[in-house]
Amino acid sequence: MPPSPVVAKVEFDADGIHHGFLRMPYSRDDSAWGSILTPITVAKNGDGPTALLTGGNHGDEYEGPIALFDLARNLDISEVTGRIVIVPALNYPAFRAGTRTSPIDRGNLNRSFPGRPFGNPTEKIADFVTRNLLPMADLVLDFHSGGRTLDFLPFAAAHVLDDKDQEAACFAAVRAFGAPYSVKMLEIDAVGMFDTTAEAMGKVFVTTELGGGGTASARTAAIAKRGVRDLLRHAGIVKGEPEIRATRWLDMPDERCFTFSEIDGLMEPLVDLGETVREGQPIGRAWPIDRTGQDPYTYTAKMDGILAARHFPGLVKAGDCIAVLGVLD
Ligand SMILES: [Zn+2]
Repeated sequence: MPPSPVVAKVEFDADGIHHGFLRMPYSRDDSAWGSILTPITVAKNGDGPTALLTGGNHGDEYEGPIALFDLARNLDISEVTGRIVIVPALNYPAFRAGTRTSPIDRGNLNRSFPGRPFGNPTEKIADFVTRNLLPMADLVLDFHSGGRTLDFLPFAAAHVLDDKDQEAACFAAVRAFGAPYSVKMLEIDAVGMFDTTAEAMGKVFVTTELGGGGTASARTAAIAKRGVRDLLRHAGIVKGEPEIRATRWLDMPDERCFTFSEIDGLMEPLVDLGETVREGQPIGRAWPIDRTGQDPYTYTAKMDGILAARHFPGLVKAGDCIAVLGVLD
């Protein structure tokens, strides 16, 4: 494999707080020898574990970038033992465009791992993370939210893993994050995810879904800011003990959690986020929009649970994920 074309213009091994960039060459019509500068901060104080904190893996999810721009500005280095690598907006072109995928290459960073050094810009970011950032890390937190098209109950999550010691460490980290909900997460599509690559390298990996709709709220931004600091306390990288906040554990046992629209239509929610549903209960209906006088298409819960996520825009298309259920542990 050739080396990554991305150059880290920041100091990883010197004590102190260093702000810099990941510079990725990007030759294009309006800048022949141009590059993409992705902001990065490295905070190091003595020896200890390394945390890698990332937001903006998807460009339209904002709690992570808010918490990480804040942390990079306001972290007190005297409280740190070890190292914190902060990248608030990992798919920087997507973040600048306010879109899930990159406007340059349509790349979905969280389906591009482990990446390719000679691939498109999104694949180059993934490759740099896989071969240059992940090997430094003991703990990884990758922030997500629902973006423009989904809205979630605020939760931190980890996955069921083959290595039960690693799995236990991941769920202990989720608990320390202390979101209102904590989830044993089932993925629709785990291939190519940052999560999958980091977990395969044996890292303690935590992800989140903290809201959505292509914006943040005061409540979800505060959850993100508290959560990241308590996770760093849990890891022994920031001084002090994490505050123990109440959390409700949700399981996602199988694909009955997910409901997908089978028509294009106008979505009428029948249940809101956090409400309890019973198997067979109508949770939403999609009205045909090409004529009046038609019955709506009704979606029912395929198991008992609570509504953990929903489609955000009012119009749905066939194939859209319209609801995700979780089961209270
Ligand atoms: Zn995301």
